[in-house]
Amino acid sequence: MGMLSGKTVLVTGAGSGIGLAMARAFAREGARVLVHDVRDARWLAEELGGVFLQADLADPQAVEALGKEAAALGVDILVNNAGFQHIDPVEAFPLETWQAMVQVMLTAPFQLIRALIPGMKAKGWGRIINVASVHGLVASPYKSAYISAKHGLVGLTKTVALEAGPYGVTVNAIAPAYVRTPLVEGQIQDQARTLGISPEEVVEKVFLAQAAIRRLIEPEEVAELALFLASEKASAITGAVLPIDLGWTAR
Ligand code: NAD
Repeated sequence: MGMLSGKTVLVTGAGSGIGLAMARAFAREGARVLVHDVRDARWLAEELGGVFLQADLADPQAVEALGKEAAALGVDILVNNAGFQHIDPVEAFPLETWQAMVQVMLTAPFQLIRALIPGMKAKGWGRIINVASVHGLVASPYKSAYISAKHGLVGLTKTVALEAGPYGVTVNAIAPAYVRTPLVEGQIQDQARTLGISPEEVVEKVFLAQAAIRRLIEPEEVAELALFLASEKASAITGAVLPIDLGWTAR
């Protein structure tokens, strides 16, 4: 019997990186995993004995449909994880990209919370875990949409925590610094090209500039924090933003 047997968890963006590690960690603890992604992640649902739900979170109608489908399956734990990055100076930032980023990383979490919280309240138990970022707490240049969306997600986390507290539902955000995932591998290559330095120098001089512990974070480390937040041991923690950032925000 795992710690989460009998529970159903929806992980958005579960086909890669942090979401993938979380989906595997939740399944290991006995949860039924609803594997969501815009890309085909049937293979993962098969691996975990879960259910695959495909939807593009950039499309509000598709998110509404996903929320209905997931609500019908009875979600106890919602992990809003899907996201992507785009880097440009603010004056060159494309409006469509801004809108897509805010939709995927802020509005879609709002829509899914709205769809799934009634079921959690009715059961008197629920967990909402929003994957924000260290960039939900502090800024870096050229990431205006990402940082705005993640700061917004932190505000959403705190607000819903206050509303859900009396019903046994906790709502928290996780704020990682750079995690070794395809999203970050892409950024290493982009920044190496832009700055004219080696990929190793990008990690050392750009990504770890603020870090007290000088290494990348592994996706499994973030998954362990999510598991803890989903557990009974964390039932007094709500409305919190938990950094897993190698000391970045201690500065
Ligand atoms: P990743 O690129 O490995 O995985 C992201 C997943 O989200 C992918 O499977 C992708 O298909 C999915 N996704 C993207 N756009 C989508 C859309 N429109 N609809 C549905 N699914 C979509 O990235 P990751 O590093 O694992 O990032 C996961 C989350 O963690 C993101 O919210 C990201 O902002 C956050 N985060 C990552 C880091 C990091 O350093 N990797 C740090 C802090 C926060």
